[in-house]
Amino acid sequence: SRYYLEQQRRRALHNSLVELKGNIRVHCRIRPFLSFDNKLDGSASQNCPTPGEVVHAADDETVLVRCALPGRPTTDKTYSFERVYGPAASQAVVFEDLRPLLISLLDGYNVCIMAYGQTGSGKSYTMLGPHSEDDPTLLSGAREDLGIIPRAAEELFRYTLWLISENPSRSPKVDVSIVEIYNNNVFDLLAKDNSTVMSGTKFQMVSTQEGRSEVPRLTCRAVTSAVEFVGLIHRGVKLRVQHPTLVHKNSSRSHLMVTATLTTASSLGSTDPPGQALARLQLVDLAGSECAAVSGVTGSALKETSFINRSLAALADVLGALSEHRDHIPYRNSKLTHLLQDSIGGDAKLLMILCVSPGQKHMAETLRGLTFGARARQAERRAPRRRP
Ligand code: ADP
Ligand code: MG
Repeated sequence: SRYYLEQQRRRALHNSLVELKGNIRVHCRIRPFLSFDNKLDGSASQNCPTPGEVVHAADDETVLVRCALPGRPTTDKTYSFERVYGPAASQAVVFEDLRPLLISLLDGYNVCIMAYGQTGSGKSYTMLGPHSEDDPTLLSGAREDLGIIPRAAEELFRYTLWLISENPSRSPKVDVSIVEIYNNNVFDLLAKDNSTVMSGTKFQMVSTQEGRSEVPRLTCRAVTSAVEFVGLIHRGVKLRVQHPTLVHKNSSRSHLMVTATLTTASSLGSTDPPGQALARLQLVDLAGSECAAVSGVTGSALKETSFINRSLAALADVLGALSEHRDHIPYRNSKLTHLLQDSIGGDAKLLMILCVSPGQKHMAETLRGLTFGARARQAERRAPRRRP
């Protein structure tokens, strides 16, 4: 059938891309210059003693950091990624490039898309859409400003319709859960009482018959339309920032994770075992990475910082272990990586969107982020995994 041919073509393309690029991809997005970027805070980075400039190269694959050292010629540090977006890139363009990744859900691959970067670098804008301090609910802008998560929700339902049209007996099903990870506690943002905390012994992950990992008591809502899915995202995001236990009411101190599981319930005539899971999509707006550099904070802020540090370090450890093809991947060192274990590693495809601020005052953290992204990607390049 048409679908079968299309699938063969995608698989061939996928395998050639894996040979070439591995399962970890990094796209870098440099956001536009905003008014609050102007103020120089004087904390120039050590690698780049005088403030540099972040430049998006014309090849769309390179970021240049231009350093002007006194009395020396200007030097450029370069970082390469699968794709680099300059400040003019629209939400639609950013989404268009990752659409093939979503299509691969149909072939049974688990997919994770996460935004990494310091606070204010555009992670939430990229994943959700524009928002302001007054209206932290996000997704409030025009349609063309919508971010990856609502776009992916719509795309997913386009696929389920496609699956139904190709084979009505497959009756695809989409289940959604939304969690916030704050101080290594998991908050169920779809729970009836609004925010069940799943910490300590309440949090456990089990393997299902289909080989998926699941948190048994986590709310999982079956959604039947894109509108319903986006409605749940709104609700989750609203709760994330209004959370009573969130000391700073600052969403950048927590990770937000939206998980959609696409399942086909097979019936007569289908060769799939009953209730076989097709694939899982995880979309993550990570906590601000600059916390790793914060010093001199005390009390609750220090506690938050150390949890963010640990979870982002655990993520780096997992990526490192994967790239070295180690037998043991340390997913269990943080709730973040534990929850992501189905969609990072193995056959799963990970896209990290590295968000970068253009301002000079952010340069130290910008360099750290670029190094983090480049390392995640290079490691995978050295030894590409082969799919059977
Ligand atoms: P983060 O989630 O990384 O802390 P935000 O997404 O909240 O950062 O972005 C910080 C500010 O910059 C917000 O006001 C946001 O609307 C704006 N912004 C970020 N990226 C863009 C972009 N590509 N175009 C326009 N405004 C942006
Ligand atoms: Mg944010």
